[in-house]
Amino acid sequence: MAKLIPLFSGSKGNSYYIGSGSGGVLIDAGRSCKQILTALDDNNIDINKIRAVFVTHEHIDHCSALRVLVKKTGMKVYATEGTMNALIRDNRLEPNAVTEVLTSPVAVGDMLVEHFSTNHDTPQPCCYRVKTSDNRCAMVATDLGTITDNVRSAFNGVDALVLESNHDVNMLKNGIYPQYLKQRILSDCGHLSNRTCAEELPDIIKNGTMRIVLGHLSQENNRPDIAMNTSIKHLADCGFKRDYDYTLDLAPEVNNGKVILF
Ligand SMILES: [Zn+2]
Ligand SMILES: [Zn+2]
Repeated sequence: MAKLIPLFSGSKGNSYYIGSGSGGVLIDAGRSCKQILTALDDNNIDINKIRAVFVTHEHIDHCSALRVLVKKTGMKVYATEGTMNALIRDNRLEPNAVTEVLTSPVAVGDMLVEHFSTNHDTPQPCCYRVKTSDNRCAMVATDLGTITDNVRSAFNGVDALVLESNHDVNMLKNGIYPQYLKQRILSDCGHLSNRTCAEELPDIIKNGTMRIVLGHLSQENNRPDIAMNTSIKHLADCGFKRDYDYTLDLAPEVNNGKVILF
């Protein structure tokens, strides 16, 4: 069975494992190398069976562990050209790291990884969809200022989806962040609110996705119960029953043993 393991999620660091019996990949490498290795070990994932790390964009919460992790494991790094250039510029990779710039879907072992461009404030951000050897499909879609048609069309056929539910708009507006940061987060190239996430879910579930995971919650401008309830309530208003029509989980800030089978 295929597994999606949210290792870390949120503004302090993001990393997800997606794989099946024969191996897997990482999406992003935020936090520290040591924390990622420990989280994998806690979930009985053999680091030697991880074939590559796919980086969504160069913000620190997605690549802080990259340099050490890649040096230690020799793991191959995939990213779009704009992100790869930024990773090199920011010294996130050793000069001899094995890298590949993404132009089309790539086969990694018996998995297929596709990338989709996102609206976020870096030169060439993307999100990833992974097809496993048993023909199951998972996708991680965070750091989305808005959901573009491109990303929306990628949801089709996904069995397990991590969707960003970053902030509660009122908490953000009334919170301690400086005005420029509030505006950045609320903008079309910032982060997705609980409400926008919730409003997207009925169509996603209607199109066949059963396993939904809310991710990249803001520590300052959100609460797990608010994020969950916003989606559950909106889905109930649209006639969808939790644990009947869909399952809803939260990607915790630090892995707490949560594994999504799909
Ligand atoms: Zn970002
Ligand atoms: Zn982020």
